[in-house]
Amino acid sequence: MFSLSLIARCCVAVLAFASSCHAVPSDPSFAFAPLSIRQGQAVDAAIASLRAVIPTRILAVRGTALYDERNDSYLAAQVSEVKPVLIFLPTSKEQVALFIKIIKPFAVVGIVRFAIRGAGQMPLPTAANIQDGITLDLVNLKGISLDTCSVTVAAGEIWGNVYSKLEGTGYGVGGSRSGLGGIGGLATQGGLSFFSSREGLIADNVLNYEIVLASGEIVNANAKQNSDLWVSLKGGNNNFGVITSFTLRTFKQSPFWGGSIYYFSDSFPGQIDALVGEIKKPNPSPETQLMISIGYSSQLGGILCQNQLYYTQNVTSNPPVLKPFTDISPQIDSLNSMRPLTLKSAASEQAADARNQLRTLYMNTMIKADAATLKAASTYYTTAISTITSVTDLLGSLTLQPYPLSLLNQQAPNGGNVLGLDPSSGPLVSILLLTYWSNPADDALVYTTMKSVLDKINADATARKTLVPFKFMNYATKSDDVISSYGATNKAKLQKASKKYDPQGLFQTGVPGGFKLFK
Ligand SMILES: Cc1cc2nc3c(=O)[nH]c(=O)nc-3n(C[C@H](O)[C@H](O)[C@H](O)COP(=O)(O)OP(=O)(O)OC[C@H]3O[C@@H](n4cnc5c(N)ncnc54)[C@H](O)[C@@H]3O)c2cc1C
Repeated sequence: MFSLSLIARCCVAVLAFASSCHAVPSDPSFAFAPLSIRQGQAVDAAIASLRAVIPTRILAVRGTALYDERNDSYLAAQVSEVKPVLIFLPTSKEQVALFIKIIKPFAVVGIVRFAIRGAGQMPLPTAANIQDGITLDLVNLKGISLDTCSVTVAAGEIWGNVYSKLEGTGYGVGGSRSGLGGIGGLATQGGLSFFSSREGLIADNVLNYEIVLASGEIVNANAKQNSDLWVSLKGGNNNFGVITSFTLRTFKQSPFWGGSIYYFSDSFPGQIDALVGEIKKPNPSPETQLMISIGYSSQLGGILCQNQLYYTQNVTSNPPVLKPFTDISPQIDSLNSMRPLTLKSAASEQAADARNQLRTLYMNTMIKADAATLKAASTYYTTAISTITSVTDLLGSLTLQPYPLSLLNQQAPNGGNVLGLDPSSGPLVSILLLTYWSNPADDALVYTTMKSVLDKINADATARKTLVPFKFMNYATKSDDVISSYGATNKAKLQKASKKYDPQGLFQTGVPGGFKLFK
């Protein structure tokens, strides 16, 4: 179906448009700027070129049921408010390659832009969707195949399907703790799993990325082939191409123990002490996955705390290492869900906690494991959220997630990544501010309130010398410079790989969403 003459025609058309186009600003909010007439014509020309070779049933345009179904299926309402002119739903990697070849002449000069979508669970509005551009929605790329010590997963799958496939095999894999999460976001941004303390970050468990490059070539990136690309993708996200499948290391895994408990704010400082004490002791257990949160719920009308706790060994009662986090008194006994779990059931439980199609905001920062800094952060947070309780359907939390040394030490042996997380500064604790609300009129208030909390936490941690520059892309917001937060050496490494694998910068100019390398 692919024809060279078609590409040549696209190039001629695009040169005419490009000559009078302005440079594309790097601000992600540019996606909401109206298209110029010339850009509109270029988009029409690009779509006509696609229509010539791609079946129309996988080209969803505005006003069709397929378009609405796909565009309404993002996690966050703000992402669904972004309206591409076309959603392309390839059914094979060859169609992805064809798309790249057709779109490249338009996109490389920035007059047509596109977004790459996995499961659409990232709340950042333009990371995986694009106003007036083309969204490449990978949902139809399906397939999960198990090998002896690995699983290969097509880019349109979700983690819940991977866990279903592994159920009963005696093997596990590091993936999202929510079964609804997409493979692409987590396996290219770092990614925390139920097993991260023992097995490392999700990206550190990727053995091979199959990727369509800017040239349209489909290549593998692994420890032996294109190894610089493999390392760059472990943190580099959508900056190098469209990943069509992922091969991840599997490991022997029994059912495990875990769940949630709910308690009150007076106990939260003690929980911070317990968390820091656990990860700083000489031999912390690599079997724990701890998340402790303090938050506000408008439904409950107040501040409440939640611990999500996992012990990844096959036990039938609460292990001693979790007792400091479970034996809190008082707690809401009826909400205690600690029990034996499978990977599939644990991820289903977390998926059920997500709030679909609400307005959603993530922000994050990284701190050395220091109880005083974390307690101060919690106070900044609860003080601030108490000032915006008039926000309709407000649900917000500050969540602390440890990066123990056992996690940080998995990076180098697994081939390395570009995240810049130095074990010598560990153990670390990620602070995530997550907010849901329903009324767009509250957007600015929520954003400025949470940004001021984050700024205070960062300033306080800087003063205490406990701030770590790393920003976790999975939880990042538009004002974060995630790539710079990896450090100058890693940023330079990413830029070098970009010049090698994408010399014309297609995935910098043509794919403006997410976090770009040359900011
Ligand atoms: C309920 C819930 C639970 C979560 N749990 C976890 C967790 O346990 N651990 C954790 O680390 N994070 C977690 N997150 C955060 C989540 O990992 C990120 O939001 C992640 O980006 C989602 O991945 P996705 O593929 O669904 O995202 P999308 O929104 O589809 O994409 C995110 C980014 O990845 C790029 N991308 C996606 N697929 C590809 C591809 N194939 N090729 C190139 N680029 C691609 C997109 O362009 C975009 O920039 C959770 C989020 C929610 C809402």
